[in-house]
Amino acid sequence: AKKQGKNRFYWFEMPMENELRFRNELEAGIRRGIALGEFKPYYEQQVDLESGQLVGFEMLARWESPELGLVGPDIFIPIAEEIGVIGELSERLIAQAFEDAKEWDSEISLSVNISPVQMRDPWFAQKLLKLLVKHRFPANRLDIEITESCLHENIGMVRSMITSLRNQGVQVSLDDFGTGYSSLSQLRSLPFDRLKIDRSFISELKESDNRGKLVDAIISMGDGLKLPITAEGVENEAVLEALKGMGKLKGQGYHYGRPEPADKVIERLAAQDRL
Ligand code: C2E
Ligand code: CA
Ligand code: CA
Ligand code: CA
Repeated sequence: AKKQGKNRFYWFEMPMENELRFRNELEAGIRRGIALGEFKPYYEQQVDLESGQLVGFEMLARWESPELGLVGPDIFIPIAEEIGVIGELSERLIAQAFEDAKEWDSEISLSVNISPVQMRDPWFAQKLLKLLVKHRFPANRLDIEITESCLHENIGMVRSMITSLRNQGVQVSLDDFGTGYSSLSQLRSLPFDRLKIDRSFISELKESDNRGKLVDAIISMGDGLKLPITAEGVENEAVLEALKGMGKLKGQGYHYGRPEPADKVIERLAAQDRL
């Protein structure tokens, strides 16, 4: 397969045997990459939209592959889930992120994405809490992001997992909100701390004549449920201005910067005197 641009692979034009061989090599490469520490946490800024203050970072996984270059999570997360290594990969990334984030100002939060496959592990909450203790990372600086697709799993188990994490001070956000099928009653019955509006809704704010009715509706719903909101995909000034008029929100997106490795985060925070 040819790698073209960022994180994009083209599978077509490939004879079946080659496709299979590529897939096998990719799987082997992922296993090897985990063992060799080629997977790295990158970080995207999360900002208070009103003040422009940096309030946290979302960890986004990258594979620094010697053969393929920088590979994004949309390629390797689904494969890691399929071959049963997502738990190990995620634990290593989160452990590294705890070490990185300990260098930052203690007011700055750390968000991490959790796969639905991990949520099926009955020991997930215990494992995460153990990791917090091992790395001496304050639970109240950690925010875990779970997607609506997790809510299709055993809802009772998901609820008790969220509850035991929150009892220790960990925050729990519902990610990619609006793209799944969570019902209002599910939302009300699960103790989330925050909603993250998917960027597909935010991008409708780009056209100047569009008032973003859907975004407005989602924000009102969040208000009704007393859930604070983060908007993802804040790509430019126009989107930022539109959002500012809609309420007190946090946001993240290319307007503030691309995800960057730990050393770039340190440079950024040093410049702001926030180490
Ligand atoms: P996500 O959680 O919705 O993360 C946001 C994605 O949008 C990131 O893509 C980010 O680089 C991209 N993005 C941020 N700002 C903008 C913007 O202004 N415009 C546009 N067009 N895109 C923006 P990325 O890093 O490729 O991650 C893709 C997905 O992979 C993430 O979506 C998340 O669901 C998943 N992921 C990333 N890291 C992990 C991980 O460690 N574990 C698990 N389970 N999933 C992860
Ligand atoms: Ca996320
Ligand atoms: Ca998201
Ligand atoms: Ca998203």
